[in-house]
Amino acid sequence: MTATDPTITSFTVRDLRWPTSLENIGSDPMNLAGENALGYLQYETDTGLFGTGWSFSNGQGNDVLCTAIRSLAPRLVGRKLSSLTSNMGDTQRKMVSGQIRFMSPERGVLQLATCAVLNAIWDLWAKSEGKPLWRLVCDLSPEETVRCIDFRYLTDALTRQEVLQMLKRLEASKADRLKLALQNKAVPAYNTSAGWLGHSDDKVRELLQSAKAQGFKHFKLKAGLGLEADLRRLGLVREVAGQDAVLMVDVNQLWDVDEAIEYMKNLAHLNLWFVEEPTSPDDILGHAKIRKALKPYGIGVATGEHINNRVMFKQLLQAEATDAVQLDALRLCSVNEILSVLLLSAKFGVPVVPHSGGAGMVELCSHISTIDFVAVSGQTSILEYTDHLHEAFEAPAQITPDGYHVSPTQAGYSCDVKPDEFEKYECPTGSFWQSPQGKMMLADPWRGVPGEQSS
Ligand SMILES: [Mg+2]
Repeated sequence: MTATDPTITSFTVRDLRWPTSLENIGSDPMNLAGENALGYLQYETDTGLFGTGWSFSNGQGNDVLCTAIRSLAPRLVGRKLSSLTSNMGDTQRKMVSGQIRFMSPERGVLQLATCAVLNAIWDLWAKSEGKPLWRLVCDLSPEETVRCIDFRYLTDALTRQEVLQMLKRLEASKADRLKLALQNKAVPAYNTSAGWLGHSDDKVRELLQSAKAQGFKHFKLKAGLGLEADLRRLGLVREVAGQDAVLMVDVNQLWDVDEAIEYMKNLAHLNLWFVEEPTSPDDILGHAKIRKALKPYGIGVATGEHINNRVMFKQLLQAEATDAVQLDALRLCSVNEILSVLLLSAKFGVPVVPHSGGAGMVELCSHISTIDFVAVSGQTSILEYTDHLHEAFEAPAQITPDGYHVSPTQAGYSCDVKPDEFEKYECPTGSFWQSPQGKMMLADPWRGVPGEQSS
């Protein structure tokens, strides 16, 4: 396919929410009822190609996300794709500049919106080149890659010159890793689907056995409902998964720093790789303290899914505060800022293990982890696999029988959702949200809050 240079003519933004809480998918100690939701943007162009980009939320507030996307999306209407992609680093910088800067476009909901807008541009770029996004990025020269990154605030830890050298060093062996990616042997998967907090012990046992049969060797479980309950549940998991399995726990920001240290010491005998989000994601020094204190017990620390930007990741790495960089593909400023975090992680020698526990995240992160393996770190890491809602996507994520992520093959960034999903789950007009049950869930202002939810 010959590359085209479409002009963006208009856009639509839609609020899409799947009622995943009804199956306890995504339940954790801070939120008992996660509805996987997308603020979904599509740019139309004069060529018939469209660029799709979205960001994620847990249901409540998704309308705010959609409003934020609507406030940013008009900036790119009328622009030729090449005028944005010839210097993506500059495009990122412009998206977070101007009057909107007061609204914190590099943190919080505006950040999610910036991500959705830039995701749509990356999707359109990859579609116009007829390549899956990971391949588009891996085919960029080191000089072209560097132009995708806004180095502002990074240069005390990572310079443009250093990145050029890092990327050039990897060029010689890139073809070998590209071959592995094309054989679906780039990115091993780990499983989270067995470990949602709302599942019964029997359900956990059944899901673990089925995940083991699918070839998984790494499992992550939610924890933090109390020591007695955690010891019983994690003991069961260790027994079913076997001594060789790699186990991780995730407590979703539950504790104060010292509380995390004291609690986790009690789980040392379970041989855990890491505890994920033990405390506030903003507390970089707190994570460093927890990591140092738990090291003698053989337990690592992981965080990143709520870390807003490259500056925080820089500090997290400088402070030696994490054993895994769990970037979220929807929280950073799209592929641009993700590339800077992949490069920072490679420089500090910490593996990138992206967060992909929500609908569509595995679809996007299978591109990101493949880019990291082929073109940035050159190292094998692992990527989360959750098995819900893949059927809703036009280019669904898949895993191989031996537990690897399938490298995406369709042109674009795998963002497109099938039209049928909107008929049922667009909020509030879709048939589910118009049903008595849907209306009741939407009317509950405390949905997901322990002790307060009434629906
Ligand atoms: Mg998590």
